[in-house]
Amino acid sequence: MPSPAPDEPPLWIKDPLAIFAEGAARGIVVQDGRIAELVPAGNEPATPGVRTFDACEHVVLPGLVNTHHHFYQTLTRAVPAALDRELFPWLQALYPLWARLTPEAVDISSTLAMAELMLSGCTLTTDHHYVFPKGVEDSIDFQVAAAKRLGLRVLLTRGSMNRSQRDGGLPPDSVVQDEDTILADSERLVARYHQTGDGAMIQIALAPCSPFSVTTSLMRATAELAKRLDVRLHTHLAETEDENRYCLEIYQCRPLDYLEECGWLNDRTWLAHGVHFNADEFPRLARAGTTVTHCAWSNQVLASGTCPVCDLEEAGVAVGLGVDGSASNDCSNLMQEVRAAFLLQRGRYGIAKVSHRDALRWATKGSAACASRADLGEIAGGMQADLALFRLDELRFSGAGDPLAALLLCGAHRADRVMVGGRWVVENGEIPGLDVAELMRRHAAAARKLQG
Ligand SMILES: [Zn+2]
Repeated sequence: MPSPAPDEPPLWIKDPLAIFAEGAARGIVVQDGRIAELVPAGNEPATPGVRTFDACEHVVLPGLVNTHHHFYQTLTRAVPAALDRELFPWLQALYPLWARLTPEAVDISSTLAMAELMLSGCTLTTDHHYVFPKGVEDSIDFQVAAAKRLGLRVLLTRGSMNRSQRDGGLPPDSVVQDEDTILADSERLVARYHQTGDGAMIQIALAPCSPFSVTTSLMRATAELAKRLDVRLHTHLAETEDENRYCLEIYQCRPLDYLEECGWLNDRTWLAHGVHFNADEFPRLARAGTTVTHCAWSNQVLASGTCPVCDLEEAGVAVGLGVDGSASNDCSNLMQEVRAAFLLQRGRYGIAKVSHRDALRWATKGSAACASRADLGEIAGGMQADLALFRLDELRFSGAGDPLAALLLCGAHRADRVMVGGRWVVENGEIPGLDVAELMRRHAAAARKLQG
């Protein structure tokens, strides 16, 4: 589906209206999938034989990176039984619906979530799929295939749950698997799909769901397997007060202490939420090199609290952004998530500490750190050519002064063009070859089936 590019002549993205980079007022040159050159004010490209893309009506950003999501949850948006509930009762209302997932539902929901992300400027997304009822054991395989069709870069996690109600956990028996099955499938997926090095398009990480749905034995075994296979580790942590209470009651310690006990407090790990870390825990995370994904929108919908982003960063912890699952967001629009994070954190820390540039940095460089991608997240020479281009030709932007600030302040939500590794995967606000109406029709039918 994506239009091929790597063998084509270099492309000068010329004279952008604004660009989130230093020394690139006249744009950038893309060659062989990478950013070959930044063109400063008053200069022409030094690269010979360039084609030109006129970007005079575009604001150019590094591609946005989404570091927490559950694609399948696009099938359970705004479900009446889950409305107005905090995390634990919200999960308990939704688990029985998720138990009805089918291979087709995983394929459609993943495709729809990724399309939604791409159209909002996303060039790399993670996903945390942790529900494996009978018959959908190959969910991650479907997600890999969907990502390849769309041309989106992905870091898909092999999620897991093995502590059901029977063992004092939160989920019902029908959505969990046993430890051996989980570990064997994790190893299979890494061997089959995980790419390494600059420009990797498909990567796999391991991701037990949470302290209240996974056994200590599986947490430890997963950390050991991730180390042996050299892949990243992900989980939900410090999301709610309920989780703090659960950990104190079951494990007699706070969530971060438990994480450390399980061999997870290291630079392989990135954590979703981190709302309830305290001042003693910030430096521990920083020393370990563990990173945190801020999910502003989801945390507000579920009234979980506010991630202390500036305190974490001041302690030396890298922070990225995530839209989180579409049952707590309830959308997968990463640009709107950047705005939500900007507003929430400015409200918490004040004007001097949080600017629109900080929020854009969290969604790019910060998120790239969560995914451990030194080749992504910035517009700089040698980086992968992952870009998001926005036009300011809607009513909401009319008359705006600073184009970069306008993206957040006026509420940009749809990219005009998106490039992944030098290929345009979104053109004129559309994904070439994707029949959105047909996708929505199939997705709505799958959602109705699930919601019964
Ligand atoms: Zn989540």
